Amino acid sequence: MNKEIFDIFNTDLQFIHGVGPVLATKFNDVLGGRRVLDFLLHIPSYVRPREILDSVTNAQNGDTITVSVMVKSHKRGGVFRGRRHPTQIICADKFAAPITLQFFNTKFLDYWIEKLPIGQWRIVSGKLDYSQRSGAIINHPDFIELPENASKIPTHQAVYPSGEGLTQKTFANVRDQIFKIIHERVSVQNTDENLMEFIDALTHVHFPESNDDLVPNGTYVAKLAYCELFAHQSAIAINRRIRKSKTNTRPIRAKKHDLINKFYEILPFALTGAQQRTIDEIFADFNRPTPMMRLVQGDVGSGKTMVAMAAMVKMAESGAQSVLLAPTDALAQQHFAKLKPMCDKLGLVCDVLTGRDKGVARREKLISLKSGRTKIAIGTHALFSTDVEYKDLGLVIIDEQHRFGVAQRTAMRTKGNNPDMLALSATPIPRTLSMTVYGDMDISIINEKPAGRIPIKTTKLPIERVGALISRIAPQVQSGAKVFWVCPLVAESEISDMVAAQSRFEDLKKYFPETGLCHGQMDKKERDKVMNEFADENSKMRILVSTTVIEVGIDVPSATIMVIENAERFGLAALHQLRGRVGRGNSQSYCVLLYGNNVSPDGLKRLDVLCETDDGFVIAEQDLMMRGVGELLGTKQSGWIQYHFVNYREHRDLFKLAQTASMDDNISENVWAKQLRQIFDCSTIAGA
Ligand code: ADP
Ligand code: MG
Repeated sequence: MNKEIFDIFNTDLQFIHGVGPVLATKFNDVLGGRRVLDFLLHIPSYVRPREILDSVTNAQNGDTITVSVMVKSHKRGGVFRGRRHPTQIICADKFAAPITLQFFNTKFLDYWIEKLPIGQWRIVSGKLDYSQRSGAIINHPDFIELPENASKIPTHQAVYPSGEGLTQKTFANVRDQIFKIIHERVSVQNTDENLMEFIDALTHVHFPESNDDLVPNGTYVAKLAYCELFAHQSAIAINRRIRKSKTNTRPIRAKKHDLINKFYEILPFALTGAQQRTIDEIFADFNRPTPMMRLVQGDVGSGKTMVAMAAMVKMAESGAQSVLLAPTDALAQQHFAKLKPMCDKLGLVCDVLTGRDKGVARREKLISLKSGRTKIAIGTHALFSTDVEYKDLGLVIIDEQHRFGVAQRTAMRTKGNNPDMLALSATPIPRTLSMTVYGDMDISIINEKPAGRIPIKTTKLPIERVGALISRIAPQVQSGAKVFWVCPLVAESEISDMVAAQSRFEDLKKYFPETGLCHGQMDKKERDKVMNEFADENSKMRILVSTTVIEVGIDVPSATIMVIENAERFGLAALHQLRGRVGRGNSQSYCVLLYGNNVSPDGLKRLDVLCETDDGFVIAEQDLMMRGVGELLGTKQSGWIQYHFVNYREHRDLFKLAQTASMDDNISENVWAKQLRQIFDCSTIAGA
């Protein structure tokens, strides 16, 4: 029965032999979930061959090798004259060529000496470190096995994208356990053929024989990618059908215009043509009997918030309520601070609700929402807690929509009677893809910036020039310029990123004592405090060093300089987003892309794109074309659906195929499609 397999998919990893709650939590951090399925959808990034060699002399520096060695002597490590020395196990291979196994952890000085007695043979595998001076060394071999256990060392090791505290061995063990269970349950008689094939493809990518098994267009990855796309496209197709069958017109909505006219009067600036056009499109949707589902794509700084405000004011005219959902507390507070004074002038009750609201104050806010008195509610997902009720929720606006999960989007819809939905996104999707990615949304594009904006000057600079950069920005900082200084968050380890940001912070403090620091390991309150201080016009804090946790939407109009370290590690769209944090006021802004020594020629070319253009659509298209196999930072925030197997560039044809297959009238009854939607968690997607 397929159900049995699904039961395994949904099992918490902590119940897999050898895992337990602590490891399961670590897996959760890396996989973004803690079910067996989450593990299965996380595939190795490459295959590391562990070539079995007769002699270490046949290998090159840097090779990963597997070789039989005999222990010759020991050299106990420790701290001598203030210097740390490793424990060394001196060995020789079958041809008596010397090789040293080296261990640095001084806490286990004797462990390895006892485990590797003189005169015994072992099979070891690890990365060879060879130099003329020290000879052949393997530091901390990945495997040390008795000769009879040689088969425990994989000849083709699947290497998983990992995280803090999870070794490749742990990944391999868990994988072995999981597939053992799955293969016990799968049987030709009882398992659906589609599911069999799916599991077969999963098996191949988790036990790859070469890198060919892991490339996007390899048989198995392509198969899985198609399944994933079919799941998404069928969900989109179904959502479209459901939405078209619903109605929500409020009769008086179109008749009154006094509030919206007053809104136009109190606006401190003239709307851009693109803003006005988008607003008109939204109002036209309001008047249609089907619920609105519109995505507004507009570059950072294109003025999406005012478009949202216009929509909420119009909704209030009909007496219904609106919510504006922000991904973070800080952003919600910022929207509130900006929109509340306008609401006051319009006589509209506006409130903010976040996770911070507690007790009596919160209860009062809830009462006001339930009574319908509050017309505009701004906040985080706290707006959709189970005890929050609305009298008549007519419009849900999601700011930075890609930062919300499926579950959250579903929760929003249930609070009203088919409310209109408006999503705001700062990262344009290449036109070539938008039909398939947001198949069920109508799209408005704000392709025009408010007048008077001065284009940001972008340059790239090697990291060695950081000293020169500091002297160049010093006078500007002295005269009041504010600087965002971003240090990247490396996927493997948040801790080491924090260290990088920390050391840059210490460094900059020598020149600029009022520098602030903000990173993901900090307490959220502490982080908000630093960010607010940086945003405060009157504070002395001029430089904010941070990892990429700085919230994408935060508005500090006085910030004019953006420095991004190791810019080559980011996706283009992410860099463009970050750059958009400056250039919001009326003075000249700058973006400096610092790149590391290991930058590739392609990496430099990508940075050139950014130096040359400020057009989000051009950048998105380039991003798509240049996106390599390796994950670039910030692709998560790029506003595109995060697929497990699908590669936007390599699988364009599959998009079309899956879309066509999803046009089938019986798609909602199709059992396999239904199961795939479960597997890929898209029973409801795209906010529908
Ligand atoms: P985003 O699209 O990135 O969310 P915002 O809505 O935060 O951009 O707008 C950026 C800034 O531009 C805000 O300070 C906003 O008040 C201002 N702004 C918006 N529309 C206009 C306009 N038509 N003319 C001048 N300034 C505008
Ligand atoms: Mg915004």
